[in-house]
Amino acid sequence: MPYPHASPHSYPHLLAELDLGFTTLRNRVVMGSMHTGMEDRFWNYPKLAAYFRERARGGTGLVITGGISPNRQGWLLPFGGTLNSVFDLRNHRLLTAAVHAEGGKIALQILHAGRYGYQPFVVSASALKSPISKFKPRALTEAGIARTVRDYARCARLAQRAGYDGVEIMGSEGYLLNQFLCPRTNQRTDRYGGSLENRMRLAREIVEAVRASCGERFIVIYRLSLIDLVEGGNTWDETVQVAQALEAAGVTMFNTGIGWHEARVPTIVTSVPRAAFAPLSARLKASVKVPVIVSNRINTPQVADDLLAQGMGDLVSMARPLLADPEFVNKTAAGRTDEINTCIACNQACLDHTFQNRRATCLVNPRAGRETELVYRPLTSKDTVRTVAVVGAGPAGLSAATVAASRGHRVTLFDASPVLGGQFNLAMRVPGKEEFSETIRYFQSQLQRHGVDVRLATRVDPALLAASRYDDVILATGIVPRRPQIAGIDGPNVLTYVDVLRGAPVGRSVAVIGAGGIGFDVSEFLLHRPGEPLPQPRDAWLDEWGVDLGVNERGGLKTPAHAQPVREIWLLQRKAGKLGAGLGKTSGWVHRAALARNGVHMLDGVSYLEISARGLKIAREGKEQWLDVETIVVCAGQESLRELQPATPSQDGPRYHVIGGAALATELDAKRAIREGAELAARL
Ligand code: FAD
Ligand code: NAP
Ligand code: SF4
Repeated sequence: MPYPHASPHSYPHLLAELDLGFTTLRNRVVMGSMHTGMEDRFWNYPKLAAYFRERARGGTGLVITGGISPNRQGWLLPFGGTLNSVFDLRNHRLLTAAVHAEGGKIALQILHAGRYGYQPFVVSASALKSPISKFKPRALTEAGIARTVRDYARCARLAQRAGYDGVEIMGSEGYLLNQFLCPRTNQRTDRYGGSLENRMRLAREIVEAVRASCGERFIVIYRLSLIDLVEGGNTWDETVQVAQALEAAGVTMFNTGIGWHEARVPTIVTSVPRAAFAPLSARLKASVKVPVIVSNRINTPQVADDLLAQGMGDLVSMARPLLADPEFVNKTAAGRTDEINTCIACNQACLDHTFQNRRATCLVNPRAGRETELVYRPLTSKDTVRTVAVVGAGPAGLSAATVAASRGHRVTLFDASPVLGGQFNLAMRVPGKEEFSETIRYFQSQLQRHGVDVRLATRVDPALLAASRYDDVILATGIVPRRPQIAGIDGPNVLTYVDVLRGAPVGRSVAVIGAGGIGFDVSEFLLHRPGEPLPQPRDAWLDEWGVDLGVNERGGLKTPAHAQPVREIWLLQRKAGKLGAGLGKTSGWVHRAALARNGVHMLDGVSYLEISARGLKIAREGKEQWLDVETIVVCAGQESLRELQPATPSQDGPRYHVIGGAALATELDAKRAIREGAELAARL
């Protein structure tokens, strides 16, 4: 029994072993492949090993590495991670040894980026440039194809020698093998183009070659695109034919791939309903005999277990949820699911970092990817237990209080509000961000677990702090919304974003001043139809984005449903340039597309002249004009609130620390707030 303390009724499907005949996975949780940036540099492999070790120690059944290229042409980025010579074995053995030491299994993902590579050696099925890389690929010759097949087989064989339990062949998300599979990118007229039989030849040859070089007792996962979400993608019938051919070629199991990277349909951001694409995995499962891994927007044990119970798949892939909480499986098994630090699908610290060429980490877990650097060392008998007051229970204060208390300090947490969470209480009211409440729930469980003395509805003033002798006072008092100097700003038709998100009545025509993250969020909030359920049900979401899970047409696209917007909105900013340019790379376009679909007027280069009962007068491109709107909503950023910080620190008083919005309001986000809280508490 791998989980002696597990109740037999808790998540039985998720925690069940999977016997593959030649090896057994201890449960059905797969840590899906995720590029961390560490796999690209040999000196980062000890850090990568620590990262995987924590996930294996936390109970994960099978870990899949970030994508490793079988050759130079397949690099995603210049000098990307490879496994193509015996000199790479030493690094990879660090990873396999770390995972095996904790009882887990590990597979190497072999990823050839094809035309998605951001480097000059790119190749593809045909010489067609992708919209997301500036490098035009060269079409592989037949000799080049044969070499590529050999490179895959060599990579898999080396993986086996490095101790991996298997490989995952990345065949989805629009990478090389997908580029061969679909007419969109394959215009060849030789044995590798034209008919489906020809287009799938490369994938089949690779699976056969990998199987032949590694033998039967080796896991070979094929990540198959079940819906391409681009024009010129495959149909469902074609996908099933490909799956059956690859099964015959020797695949041990299939993983689910959803959408190409160039698709204009979101597949994993917060607003995608949980498990939205799982029915596709269920359909694949009905067409093949080998196990199927279900994936995309699955982030709680309940959702995962239900999917398996309903026969949607045999295993569940979660990548970001295991970044957020490496102990996901052990907590599930112990019935401590309220303690799981749930991934809120924000992408801010993981995928957005990857696109910026930075190491991936996690907004709600700043230790992710920094396991050897950000260490929460428990106090020993040689340390002094400090008495700590944390003022403000927003993300920064919650993070500081829980980490400090977990190490053994005596912590009191104050907030003027009757609830925990600070601004997250507003964020979670935005349609598509409901899951921000999970972060508050997680911190609440940690406060309880580590014995933090929580005093809500308590506004702290200097007298209160002076009344107790604290060693440290952590000011995490956040921000106040900025009120720009515009004539008429105090009028009755002007609201702040706080008023709006707390439910103040808003007219049917609105001008939003400020187009940062909050301006976008408030616009989406104002477009929500009263009475429509939140989070948005799957079918409504699929219709809105034009997704046909039947995949009857190529790529699974259909005409998006159009509904009359409930309000007319002008979203405004002073600077010139695209609105939302500062939003995350992987989520900003989703917000822009949602507002554009609802007819939101997005204006840049605006000067605000005056507000009156008529509306908002602006100047733009040298012309003045009135926006005749009923309500003006101010989303013009924030200013730090740190009135409790003493002007001159006293010698014998507590040490003061300022974190989060209280320290710096510009470019503040929860990622920085949580990280600053954790880093400070780790040092106390
Ligand atoms: P806050 O969250 O502001 O918390 C400060 C706390 O201090 C408050 O609870 C306040 O009551 C308390 N306090 C203040 N003075 C006192 C006092 N004297 N005594 C006691 N208590 C006091 N960030 C992201 O990263 N991603 C997002 O998608 C995102 N979406 C957002 C959407 C909305 C609508 C909003 C409003 C914010 C969003 N944010 C987002 C921003 C994020 O919420 C903030 O960056 C984060 O909350 C800042 O954390 P903090 O702890 O520094 O401050
Ligand atoms: P923000 O991103 O700094 O945006 C503030 C907006 O107000 C900008 O459009 C700015 O543009 C405008 N502005 C600033 N000063 C002004 C003034 N004096 N008069 C008029 N307009 C002014 O801040 P935010 O939208 O308040 O968000 C706060 C933080 O929460 C941000 O750091 C953000 O990252 C985070 N957040 C993130 C998300 C997300 O999805 N990742 C969502 C919500 C919030 P101009 O100066 O050009 O007018
Ligand atoms: Fe999830 Fe956001 Fe963390 Fe990425 S950064 S793992 S999306 S919570």
